[in-house]
Amino acid sequence: MRRQVTILGATGSIGLNTLDVIRRHPERFQVYALTAWRQAEALAALCLEFQPRYAVMADPLAAEQLQALLQGCSDTVVLAGESGLCEVAGAAAVDTVMAAIVGAAGLRPTLAAVETGKRVLLANKEALVMSGALLMDAVVRSGAELLPIDSEHNAIFQCLPPTQVRDLPGAGVRRILLTASGGPFRTASLQAMQEATPAQACAHPNWSMGQKISVDSATLMNKGLELIEACWLFNTRPAQIEVHVHPESIIHSMVEYVDGSVLAQLGSPDMRTPIANGLGWPERIDAGVPSLDLFALGRFHFERPDLNRFPCLRLAAEAFEAGGTAPTVLNAANEEAVAAFLAQRLRFTDIPVIIEKVLSSVSVVSADSFDTIFVKDEEARILARELMSL
Ligand code: NAD
Ligand code: MG
Repeated sequence: MRRQVTILGATGSIGLNTLDVIRRHPERFQVYALTAWRQAEALAALCLEFQPRYAVMADPLAAEQLQALLQGCSDTVVLAGESGLCEVAGAAAVDTVMAAIVGAAGLRPTLAAVETGKRVLLANKEALVMSGALLMDAVVRSGAELLPIDSEHNAIFQCLPPTQVRDLPGAGVRRILLTASGGPFRTASLQAMQEATPAQACAHPNWSMGQKISVDSATLMNKGLELIEACWLFNTRPAQIEVHVHPESIIHSMVEYVDGSVLAQLGSPDMRTPIANGLGWPERIDAGVPSLDLFALGRFHFERPDLNRFPCLRLAAEAFEAGGTAPTVLNAANEEAVAAFLAQRLRFTDIPVIIEKVLSSVSVVSADSFDTIFVKDEEARILARELMSL
């Protein structure tokens, strides 16, 4: 039986890489549903190639556009809005859901997949940062299989015994070495960073990604979000995780054991590797990724992150330690600040300034329900916009 796959965020960088892997394995996977925000033409082209049962546009006007584009040339049923996203994420016929919507918009559809016990391939790290305890509880309750797609977390997952992914002391793990490329401003002066443009911030040295995660990589908030993501996925704390800047992005992370062994997962910086790992797990399937040429690379380098130029990493660790809704607020403030920076309404170096102000003003409460999460998310966004006079 072919696995039925829903891809949330099909037109994005992760979505397209997922379809590239699926295209190589028509005997294993069938696309059940594809979704996007408002890129109707891009989704229409994907629908014509993959002929999914459903296509969902989060934006209702774009859904009408998609309907018109598919009229007479496809049997794909078009749905609209968040309810449509949740429907195709939780449909009984679906086995696997790629959660690759960017930002908080991905939380409800990801949750719909988790609550219906799917294999959930998690790229949408913001969903876990916003609601870690609640989402992990939902995984346990439903029996969903949550597999990390973020390259670092997929690497850590591959370096751990499969039955002890959430029991690091039991597995004899001493610490996790989370690698970071350092982003485009790794060696830039603070002054150059103050004047950084969106185009410079999005020009990542090793990875080609969506705009939001590219800016997060430039501020190192991406590593901060990943620190929190790792704490939830592997049931640990920031003190057990050490960020290593590794500019070559070949070692995707490492796990150190009490006997001194350090296991690493290496590979070219190509997201098709972790995507294929998640799609095929526990089998290995071809990802279309060429062999690694270590002779051509020659050397690996490692540096400590500079928390003065990159305060976002510190802010994320502090938010995790503060607990409750603090990571929800961190994520929401970051999304708003990054959007303002991309719209050229905020300086690059003011992104952490806004986040820190929002974190110190919004009270931390217990993350006891998803309603609380959404209330705090909104409160943080309103305050962030006020602070930026938007
Ligand atoms: P992207 O911007 O390229 O694509 C985002 C996708 O989400 C698009 O299909 C878009 O239509 C959809 N989308 C955006 N806003 C939406 C909304 N409000 N409602 C519904 N759909 C919406 O982003 P990306 O780089 O593919 O990243 C996706 C997620 O994967 C992010 O959470 C990112 O942090 C994570 N991730 C990405 C990479 C990478 O290499 N790109 C690596 C690791 C993790
Ligand atoms: Mg990553």
